[in-house]
Amino acid sequence: MASVEEQVVETNGSAPEGSQIPVENPATGQVIAHVPDMGADEVKEMARKARAVQPAWEALGFEGRGRILKRMQKWVLDNRDEIIAVIRSETGKTYEDAQLAEISYGAAAFGFWADNAPVYLADEKVKSANVLVKGKKLITRYKPLGLVGVIGPWNYPLTNSFGDCIPALAAGNAVILKPSEVTPLTSLKLLEGLRECGVPEHVFQVATGRGGTGAALTDEVDMIMFTGSTATGKKVMQRAAETLTPVSLELGGKDPLIVLADADLERAANSAIYWGMFNGGQTCISVERVYVEEPVYDAFVAKVTEKARALRQGSGEMGTADVGSMTFPPQVDIVERHVEDAKAKGAKVLVGGKRGSGAGYWFEPTVLVDVDHTMECMTEETFGPTLPIMKVSDAEEAIRLANDSPYGLGASVYGKDVHRAEAVGRRLESGAVCINDSLVNYTALELPMGGAKASGLGTRHGAGGIRKYCQQQAIVVTRFAMKKELYMYPYNSRVTRLLGKTFNLLYGRGKRD
Ligand code: NDP
Repeated sequence: MASVEEQVVETNGSAPEGSQIPVENPATGQVIAHVPDMGADEVKEMARKARAVQPAWEALGFEGRGRILKRMQKWVLDNRDEIIAVIRSETGKTYEDAQLAEISYGAAAFGFWADNAPVYLADEKVKSANVLVKGKKLITRYKPLGLVGVIGPWNYPLTNSFGDCIPALAAGNAVILKPSEVTPLTSLKLLEGLRECGVPEHVFQVATGRGGTGAALTDEVDMIMFTGSTATGKKVMQRAAETLTPVSLELGGKDPLIVLADADLERAANSAIYWGMFNGGQTCISVERVYVEEPVYDAFVAKVTEKARALRQGSGEMGTADVGSMTFPPQVDIVERHVEDAKAKGAKVLVGGKRGSGAGYWFEPTVLVDVDHTMECMTEETFGPTLPIMKVSDAEEAIRLANDSPYGLGASVYGKDVHRAEAVGRRLESGAVCINDSLVNYTALELPMGGAKASGLGTRHGAGGIRKYCQQQAIVVTRFAMKKELYMYPYNSRVTRLLGKTFNLLYGRGKRD
């Protein structure tokens, strides 16, 4: 494999020779680098190298790996500005968005998995009620799978793509990451950091390329962690089925935010605007649609409108812009289509509503009202800086509409009576619910993060977020043993009857209804 320096080719717009992918700065539309478009043979070779070095990485143990991960935690903070510059150059997000959701996540995750891998993956002593294993030592062991493939999207190149590699490495696996073709530079930057901090060569590799590279990776690894669209997630799962490779899928969302009549409207409006526009709305758990109980609808809309009008959009220095550019050019077309579809069906645009002018890929922060479920903006993932707000007669209608979606990633409910708000939240079909808050569940790495319905399969974070990278191995140790167990050959009727009576005694106490 090429070195990091060889992989990234700084460019002034002209493509170097070979099969190369241009990387654009979406805030300006300029090509800033090229990376190789790796084919199946290169991925196979990477997998061979990874498998050769994985046993030594596993043998380092939790302590040895943890020490390196802790060094990496510091490296992320020491190199914050440089990493943020790389992230911004390929995503167009603001400095603040990159610091809050990428740097802080990365730094937290390195420490979290270094500390918690030995806890979540410690041998578990098990007690069994079954008489056949009485007196034996029973253990559940978590053994690294070997080689994990991570396929990532473009919206959070550190958090979503690279972030899933951290627990896989902490568990003792080798990892190959296939970042989105749109945002490969951040992963290559972090590869530099891992090498500097002591991760041996080929334990972590980056396979730059397009969809075909991701498909080739699926064939080579022992497990695939995928984040991206539901449509591509299904393709990955189909491909993985051919080799019975386990998958964990974090897919699209259409997260609702419900405002109950007793909500603190100022907090609800601030949250709706912030978590609807954060990262240009390009977050799997963005607030994508809002339902407001009738008595407070007008007041809520007035607050949101005022706050949306005050937003500054741009790509300047720290503190100069609230909302950045879109990252993926075709996404601007989707956002525009959803807004136009809503307008054609009777929705009103209160703020924004159109593409930004000039170079790069921009869409104005947009507030829509008079929307309903005949419109794409309320039923399909928009993944942009739009906030459609719908009036509902009561909480029952809000719950019904919130659940009227194929997706079920996150949701939030605002209300001062927290018991009632929580009761509403518990009825929502989603992987996470925040009460008087939105999205912050993602920052609690102890909590499972995953989707219901078409939003995914499996979880990241928490015990499940690292155990999925392991084979659960059952270990039974028999120390003091007779030459022969009672039930072994040759069968005879006396022992068979005795065993029958024993089973009656053990399990025959239940009553038939
Ligand atoms: P995709 O789901 O198509 O891409 C995600 C990753 O999968 C990328 O690295 C992509 O590579 C790769 N990939 C594409 N095809 C295959 C394949 N057949 N086998 C294996 N890997 C593959 O997302 P898009 O970037 O096209 O975005 C589409 C939509 O997905 C957006 O409009 C948005 O709604 C949603 N999305 C959801 C995200 C989330 O966090 N849940 C994140 C990003 C997008 P490459 O980029 O090179 O094509």
